[in-house]
Amino acid sequence: ALTDRLSGVFDRLSGRGVLSDKDIDEALREVRVALLEADVALPVVREFIAKAKEQATGEAVIRSVRPADQVVKITYDGLVDMLGGEGEPEGLNLSMNPPTVILMAGLQGSGKTTTAGKLALRLGKERKRVLLASLDTRRPAAMEQLATLAKQAGVDSLPIVQGQSAPDIARRALSSAKLQGFDVVILDTAGRTTLDEQMMTEAAEIARIANPSETLLVADSLTGQDAVRTAKAFHERLPLTGLVLTRADGDGRGGAALSMRAVTGLPIKFLGVSEKLEGLDAFDARRVAGRILGQGDVVALVEKAAQEIDAAKAEAMAKKLAKGQFDLDMMAEQLKQMKRMGGMEGLMGLLPGVQKMKKQIAESGVTDKMVDRQAAIISSMTKAERKKPDILQASRKRRIAAGAGVDVADVNRLLKQHRQMADAFKSLSRDGGKGFAKMAGM
Ligand code: GDP
Ligand code: MG
Repeated sequence: ALTDRLSGVFDRLSGRGVLSDKDIDEALREVRVALLEADVALPVVREFIAKAKEQATGEAVIRSVRPADQVVKITYDGLVDMLGGEGEPEGLNLSMNPPTVILMAGLQGSGKTTTAGKLALRLGKERKRVLLASLDTRRPAAMEQLATLAKQAGVDSLPIVQGQSAPDIARRALSSAKLQGFDVVILDTAGRTTLDEQMMTEAAEIARIANPSETLLVADSLTGQDAVRTAKAFHERLPLTGLVLTRADGDGRGGAALSMRAVTGLPIKFLGVSEKLEGLDAFDARRVAGRILGQGDVVALVEKAAQEIDAAKAEAMAKKLAKGQFDLDMMAEQLKQMKRMGGMEGLMGLLPGVQKMKKQIAESGVTDKMVDRQAAIISSMTKAERKKPDILQASRKRRIAAGAGVDVADVNRLLKQHRQMADAFKSLSRDGGKGFAKMAGM
């Protein structure tokens, strides 16, 4: 019930009722098992669990949600973040100066040629003129395979000339594309069944010649731990820009995605989900995070928990704001929500009557990076300092600045901004808090 929910939040605001170590450890044990079952690489599991524990420690209990579910929610958010965040997945980087070159790299059988065809179909539908070129001189049938896929996708393929080396074919593809006005050239390369020096050298040479906008590493998600080793090796030798994981249709677990992303830091751009040309999905961090944690019902649970947590927090915040109260904990909470809602602009757009502040913030040039820094400053404060910023004299400010890795001037700026926000909220609250009640949907 609403009252339960609110009292849970009030426990938090009075400093009681944080998640216990026992709750956190129990829940994280389950999460750990889920990650290992999903075939996430062990070092990645370790790092992730440690981070999740840190995030969950000190979090307030929300009464209407089981503590374990709350920890799962925190973990899920961490996974989504680690997989690249909630936003729109990063698409292909197309060059301002056509032709854009896309280079496909990866082991043999990983799905490079198929993915090249899938990308061609996708780009063709976006009305791009695409040229597919096979640089696979090792397998006689490989060039034919790509030519057939090109026909199916309704795009052109580079005429096959026997006896040319891969770098020579790359040069020929580039000059044809320039002469004939193609928008995109996709270079499909040969792979080996295992990592080897010759393959890497050739791939690096092709990358140097073709100067691709995208160098995509195609990896088979079913190869699990091997995929991680492959990604590492390719990443060391090639200027990779993104990952494509194939056979996601056969991988119920998604562990390779998390491992590869964690190890390379590269965005996962697409998932291959069938043998057909249409079988290429834009990567969706939330879906994969749900899969890693253990199938669909986790996502439903997590979404319900998230709604309750957000609603409870928003209600408590609105009540305090309506009374003209606005401490640094609340500011930190606002910063967090702001990020979740798509940055400054997103949040300010949602608040009624905050146009003036929005303008101020726009004028002051606040960016999401600054938001991160502000959050770091607040988290370096003690609980008492967050409640009563008045007690912050010079030595405390120095300690906080050092803790957050910023200058004292940054701390002062934050405090000034907090005072301005508090004043703005106080003046808004003179209408009896109606604006805030509406904002929280009460
Ligand atoms: P390459 O050696 O890296 O060029 O790999 P291919 O593109 O020739 O693909 C090898 C095999 O994997 C083919 O039989 C493809 O049909 C299959 N394949 C590629 N991508 C996917 C995918 O996303 N899902 C499934 N189920 N099969 C795939
Ligand atoms: Mg191939």
